[in-house]
Amino acid sequence: MNAAAGLASRFAELFGGAPRIFRAPGRVNLIGEHTDYNDGFVMPAAIQVATHVAIAPAQSRRLTLRSENLGETVAFELDEPGPRPRGDWSDYVRGVAITIGRSGRPISGANLLIHGNIPLGAGLSSSASLEVAVAVALLADSGVTMDPTQVALLCQRAEDEFVGARCGIMDQFTACNARANHALMLDCRSLDAAHFEIPRDLRLAVCNTMVKHELASGEYNRRRQQCEEGVRVLSEFIPGIRALRDITMEQLQEFGSTLHPTILRRCRHVVSENARVQAAAQALSRGDLEEFGELMRCSHLSLRDDYEVSCPELDVMVELALGLEGVYGSRMTGGGFGGCTISLVKAEWVDSFSRAMAQGYEKQTGMRPEIYICSAADGASEELF
Ligand code: ADP
Ligand code: MG
Repeated sequence: MNAAAGLASRFAELFGGAPRIFRAPGRVNLIGEHTDYNDGFVMPAAIQVATHVAIAPAQSRRLTLRSENLGETVAFELDEPGPRPRGDWSDYVRGVAITIGRSGRPISGANLLIHGNIPLGAGLSSSASLEVAVAVALLADSGVTMDPTQVALLCQRAEDEFVGARCGIMDQFTACNARANHALMLDCRSLDAAHFEIPRDLRLAVCNTMVKHELASGEYNRRRQQCEEGVRVLSEFIPGIRALRDITMEQLQEFGSTLHPTILRRCRHVVSENARVQAAAQALSRGDLEEFGELMRCSHLSLRDDYEVSCPELDVMVELALGLEGVYGSRMTGGGFGGCTISLVKAEWVDSFSRAMAQGYEKQTGMRPEIYICSAADGASEELF
């Protein structure tokens, strides 16, 4: 029995009836970190790990959700006035339901059984995958069609406004619009996207440091404020700029001395990272993986030294990967302070890569990393089984 059929049969046992099943993938960001909320460029790919949602209509105006991962069931009324977040995982689902409702599309009561195989909180975007899988499931169950980019925007709004976690559009956009065997370059301002083919013999090796620093979300908000502060000061000298996306490296060199040194370093990361994403897109379209890998390495250094969102475990992992055969490049991926690294590895070398990473990382940190060998996957879809 495949995974979808298994989920359907557990749904039938729990709620009765035959569900439809929807999936949305996790993602790994190849390059372009902390650029999304600066209106800049990112280049993620969706990966095979995903959240699956089984759904069937309910008789009432109630949503009943069960997460198999957490072993918890939560129910709420769709028409409850003034809904408030509970501060747990169900907020992601409820936020999506409320945001769809507020956008003027009526949704129906339903039962949902949720199962994901994305590690939670590791930076592979289990949250966006959950939101998008739930959104496409609720919309389909209610007979509403919606453009994938609108679905992504709606899910981002749900996470931002209802869950209360500020986030850029990258994760949800990727979960909706990614294409198998392609990296997706997204302009986070215009939402223009371009797909770049990834050579078939290349693997996206995601290594989980297994650390999650508690300061991540506070530091994330602080970085956003620092970027806003940079734009505020620089706009006195460069009229018309709205975000760090509008600033070139030359302008930063010219006016950077007006900034507090910390703010200058934050801005330098974002401005140089935007340039690296554009160079990476060109490198990928030429099939120049050496150059792509070098850009990843520089991205990591910039995140470590200028943006200061790396941590010793991430640095150890990147160093280890860069010393191995068959590796084009490696960097931390996601918000930082723990989570995962991404390495581009030639397919024929992935076994020796995985062994060496597991051994080397455990030797240096005492922790056993999880390693996921991925290739780029498609965005959200209904699973037919
Ligand atoms: P990331 O998106 O990097 O995995 P986040 O902290 O943004 O990390 O999101 C993780 C949260 O998303 C989890 O703590 C949980 O609340 C929710 N979540 C994701 N997948 C599931 C799932 N399958 N079941 C229940 N909650 C989930
Ligand atoms: Mg998330």
